[in-house]
Amino acid sequence: MDIPVVKQIAKAEEVGWVNPKWMPWNEAKDSLGISMEDIDDAEARLLRFAPFIMKCFPETKERNGLIESALTPIPKMQEFLNQTYGDTIQGRLLLKQDSHLAVAGSVKARGGIYEVLKHTEDLALEAGLITLEDNYSKLAADESREFFSQYTIQVGSTGNLGLSIGIASAAVGYEVIVHMSADAKQWKKDMLRSHGVKVVEYESDYSEAVKNGRKESDANPNSYFVDDENSKNLFMGYAVAAKRLIGQIEELGIQVDEEHPLFVYIPCGVGGAPGGVTFGLKEIWGDHVHVFFVEPTQAPCMILGMATGLHNQVCVQDIGLTGLTHADGLAVGRPSGFVGKVMEPLLSGEFTLKDQWLYEYMRALWDTENIFIEPSSCAAFEGPLKLTRYAETRKYIKEHGLEDKMEQSAHIVWATGGKLVPENIREEYKNTYLD
Ligand SMILES: *Cc1c(COP(=O)(O)O)cnc(C)c1O
Repeated sequence: MDIPVVKQIAKAEEVGWVNPKWMPWNEAKDSLGISMEDIDDAEARLLRFAPFIMKCFPETKERNGLIESALTPIPKMQEFLNQTYGDTIQGRLLLKQDSHLAVAGSVKARGGIYEVLKHTEDLALEAGLITLEDNYSKLAADESREFFSQYTIQVGSTGNLGLSIGIASAAVGYEVIVHMSADAKQWKKDMLRSHGVKVVEYESDYSEAVKNGRKESDANPNSYFVDDENSKNLFMGYAVAAKRLIGQIEELGIQVDEEHPLFVYIPCGVGGAPGGVTFGLKEIWGDHVHVFFVEPTQAPCMILGMATGLHNQVCVQDIGLTGLTHADGLAVGRPSGFVGKVMEPLLSGEFTLKDQWLYEYMRALWDTENIFIEPSSCAAFEGPLKLTRYAETRKYIKEHGLEDKMEQSAHIVWATGGKLVPENIREEYKNTYLD
């Protein structure tokens, strides 16, 4: 393939890539086929379920049944990165701690739980168990649980989506089957089994686990498949994050406008989580927000899909990469076609990084801010560190008239997972050094 960035990623090089199909928000927004109304709908549904969530997961009480995370300034990490790597991160560096979301301990608590609840509402309304005006906490009663136990939910996962869908579905009362790819960590499988979830293990990668899960689910009329590669529900669950970010940004006294750009960096696997969040961010801040995804050099499926325009018709193995990475949450060889197409006019660009940096950034964040996040999440730090290092992204800054606005910019590193990682595994990670 004759596209320069594809040649580079095929050699597993680290890259900074700017999306040539990016468009101003005003030109892009009407062609997406989705809108703020879809996000509002998802947000309203999550509100209806808040009493139920609070009842099933008492840890959500302090946020009144909303599963939401903090936005935290990390000045010590910023200083450390600037001193160590010699690149000045100008403006303010912040961490969005989806790594610490209630219930599932990862960004998947947004999309995954939302989709389970959406399906639950559909079934319950159809069966006359509730009306839209009811207090949904009654869905946690024994007779409701018995009703839901006739139904099965299935999902394919590299780990965190399975945790989210598994824990949420088990709480509602469903039978749950999680199809886990070879990348999935043992502790995640153990944790799911402890919730009564059936875990099917595969020797193969994520796409294969999804394919088989979909097939098994389709063969059972009472089974619902959460389709990470195509699901609009998952996507909207993630997008709600952006609406809830508005207040948090204001609270910290951060401005986002023509003079104050906001940069957001999100680790990307199949694309659903970062794509959904991005769509929400663009709906709110339009051209003032610049979103970059970050992927491992061995699994840069979203860059590959977007740069070639082939989306889910191409996978990283087609260009000779292994798809194997320590970033288990990002170990995806084939991107979501649905997400790739929606991202075409919205995404600013991407970075790729080698696995060794995951652990370096993880240790740095722990040492400077005393915050633990899992290696996959740490990919996001590559963004603010390299934004002004690659010629391509420097050009982006110049062409968007941002050069003299960097001092008053904000950079959000989206931490996507970590809270549930057991202590012994944390220790193992902290002592992992790769060449
Ligand atoms: C799933 C996941 C992502 C990426 O989400 P996708 O929807 O697969 O793109 C990033 N980080 C972590 C920790 C994850 O579990």
